[in-house]
Amino acid sequence: MRTFTERSDTRRVDDEPSMPTRYPDQVLEEFAKLAEECSICYQCGTCTSACPSARDLYRGPRRLVRLILAGEIDALFASDDLWRCTECGACTTACRMEIDVASVLARVRALERIHGSIRCPERTAAEAAARRLERHPRIENVLFAAAMAARGHVPRDVVGAAEAGMKIVRTRLPGPKRAATGASPTRPTVTLPFYAGCSLPQDGELHALVHEVAAGFGVRLDEVDAGCCGHPSRGAVPTHFTSDERVWTACPACDASLAEASVDTAPLWDALVERARREGFALRARSASFVPYVGCLADRDKAIAALGDAAELAGVDMQVAYPGLHNACCGALGGMYRGATKGSKRLLEFAAQAGAPVVTPCVLCRDNVRSAARQLRLSVPVYFWPEFFRAAEPPREEASDA
Ligand code: SF4
Ligand code: SF4
Repeated sequence: MRTFTERSDTRRVDDEPSMPTRYPDQVLEEFAKLAEECSICYQCGTCTSACPSARDLYRGPRRLVRLILAGEIDALFASDDLWRCTECGACTTACRMEIDVASVLARVRALERIHGSIRCPERTAAEAAARRLERHPRIENVLFAAAMAARGHVPRDVVGAAEAGMKIVRTRLPGPKRAATGASPTRPTVTLPFYAGCSLPQDGELHALVHEVAAGFGVRLDEVDAGCCGHPSRGAVPTHFTSDERVWTACPACDASLAEASVDTAPLWDALVERARREGFALRARSASFVPYVGCLADRDKAIAALGDAAELAGVDMQVAYPGLHNACCGALGGMYRGATKGSKRLLEFAAQAGAPVVTPCVLCRDNVRSAARQLRLSVPVYFWPEFFRAAEPPREEASDA
């Protein structure tokens, strides 16, 4: 029986009938173009080495490119890995021959949508998300989960899914939805445009916490209710949001997707740390050390360095092993959680050995790594950035003797 974490394709090449499928001219022409663009590939494998999901893929980008070069359309259209790609772009950045591997795979996916028949959960999720976003501004997690269950894909982490469902219900109940968005009474205040994305507003407590932590830094968040950034639809429905000014985000997927729409974004956490530096105050952290995890969609080195800046201002120790450990796939290959990956297992084992929690600037990663810890029975706390860092309180005024 197949499990969600199995490294295999929907159909193996060996299982294919001996007669190859006949495809329309449009498909053959597009494949001829793709093969031409990839013809300089010398199969070095650098793309696969750079891919955060590679350990959990059956083929990986190098082998998918090889299938394009070999004209193996049937095998490509049978490869779940097409849909397990998270579109992070690391393969494109790494390719020494300047092949835009990520966009090559996106173009194969676009053809597969029309002419293929892959049945993996990621493709189903992409279709369900795209269908929803054609008519609604955002993905509603409960409705999305119900749509997936109706198609035979139950959540991999039932406990985590139930907790997320309860948070959504609490968020929808009458009552105050968010902590006051006013800034710290003791610090000068700035207002920043903030793009909250889809997931954060569905967790009322965490949403409130982000505003509260920002307020502690003297930052008021002017929140844009702009709906989905486009990422879960896997390129089928781009965002409708535009902005001429920089917007601050709490999600690397929003950063990546809005960048494609030419919107200038930056992580909110960078702004908070920069503000603390400029104003000369410290951060306080929840424990004396932590292990960073930045997810596959963030600019890895920059995101780890930003967490290092926060650690320095908080006077705590950031425990780093090797770069790939801190951005390997959290389990959401292609946007669908599939259980603990090799990457999340290694990360959690490292953190358990170090006796330190994992801290991440991505709330989706937090939930997925927590699910992995639960599955692996590893007692490692996993925190979203604002759950771990805060602005230190200003020193109290000395009582006057007067
Ligand atoms: S990094 Fe570029 S040249 Fe090397 S295998 Fe990947 S696509 Fe081919
Ligand atoms: S875009 Fe990212 S996930 Fe997809 S193949 Fe390239 S490196 Fe791997």
